[in-house]
Amino acid sequence: MNIPNSEQLFSRAQHSIPGGVNSPVRAFKSVGGTPLFIKKAKGAYLFDVDGNKYIDYINSWGPMILGHAFEPVVEAIQKKAADSTSFGAPTELEIEMAELIKSMVPNVDLVRMVSSGTEACMSAIRLARGYTGRNKIIKFEGCYHGHADSFLVKAGSGVATFNIQTVPGVTAGVAADTLTAPYNDIDAVQQLINQHKNQIAAIIIEPVAGNMGCILPQQNFLEDLRKICTEEDIVLIFDEVMTGFRLAQGGAQERLKIDADLVTYGKVIGAGMPVGAFGGKFEIMQHIAPLGNVYQAGTLSGNPIAMIAGFTLLNHLKNNPGIYTELDEKGAYLRKELFTVLDKANIPVTINQIGSMISVFFTHRAVNNFADASSSNITTFNKFFHAMLEQGIYLPPSGYESWFLSNALSYDDLNETINATAKAASSLL
Ligand SMILES: *Cc1c(COP(=O)(O)O)cnc(C)c1O
Repeated sequence: MNIPNSEQLFSRAQHSIPGGVNSPVRAFKSVGGTPLFIKKAKGAYLFDVDGNKYIDYINSWGPMILGHAFEPVVEAIQKKAADSTSFGAPTELEIEMAELIKSMVPNVDLVRMVSSGTEACMSAIRLARGYTGRNKIIKFEGCYHGHADSFLVKAGSGVATFNIQTVPGVTAGVAADTLTAPYNDIDAVQQLINQHKNQIAAIIIEPVAGNMGCILPQQNFLEDLRKICTEEDIVLIFDEVMTGFRLAQGGAQERLKIDADLVTYGKVIGAGMPVGAFGGKFEIMQHIAPLGNVYQAGTLSGNPIAMIAGFTLLNHLKNNPGIYTELDEKGAYLRKELFTVLDKANIPVTINQIGSMISVFFTHRAVNNFADASSSNITTFNKFFHAMLEQGIYLPPSGYESWFLSNALSYDDLNETINATAKAASSLL
């Protein structure tokens, strides 16, 4: 791949943007090399500023579940923009969006729109604290809930990728209210609760983790969490920013048949526009201003362009449930075939997959928590990443990220990816 234009833009960007990027993982810092500057994308494919074409497994880190520039979404945005891009006053479209979300996620009574996943999680935690009158929260090592101060403790995503142990700027006081347990370790959670009786407002979790690579909850883990939270009056928050509207129309809650008290959304919900949401039981949600006193607001919350994009995508997903079956089949096929070619080449590998989320860990160990994910060979991952990129396959530039499939991927695209992996395998040993 020749990427002179990307190289030139990346070097120019250093002079005006910190590290040349507006979000850290984009910089390719851990895998090395120059990030691709993207010109456009359509369906399953990305095109960089040098005219190279790639099969996209990032899909904007999740939103593009039906592929890029999905025509109904593009048309709806264009049409809506002519009526102005924001009012800062209520619109009927916001009700339609909330009603659509409620129809897809039955245990959401009320839902508040925000502009990012970070905002959704940050607001959900404030609400849980306001509702319970307690201060502490429990999160899981390697889970990422956005970049609000209280979540940057043992966080996943870029924090894990860059191995940042403590984030400067997060005060010790804030950090002390965030307790952490290993993912899939219910005994550790029980111990924290015993040590901090009646002090824990919420447990927040990615019901399927995607920010330390894709890690599935083990048998009974979420069921036990649910039980403990009910017994201890702790608000159970499912961070479905990744899994929402991706693993099923009702997200991980539907797929894994467990109800959280509050749920947060982002990514798919905005179809690539800056959108997040949090919602849940009326009993808790009624404490949000202006119904209650837990303050939360946003100048651009419920923005009409963002709403029409998200509404159009979610409505399409709701009316075409077969999409989830197709994504499941594509995900399972990719996992099986990737495992076959890597195993045949004697590469130690574990592949975790559920629906359209998949991760390749270069380790023999089963990967059930952050320590397992960290045991995988990062040097091998980096070689794999570049060998794939050379062949036109665009993977997340970190071993601590899930890949996201879009339903625009054809079996030809998947087979091309599998063949590229077979070729890459020889350079990995
Ligand atoms: C991406 C992500 C977030 C943060 O969302 P932003 O829109 O980037 O602020 C929060 N939680 C999870 C699980 C995510 O994957």
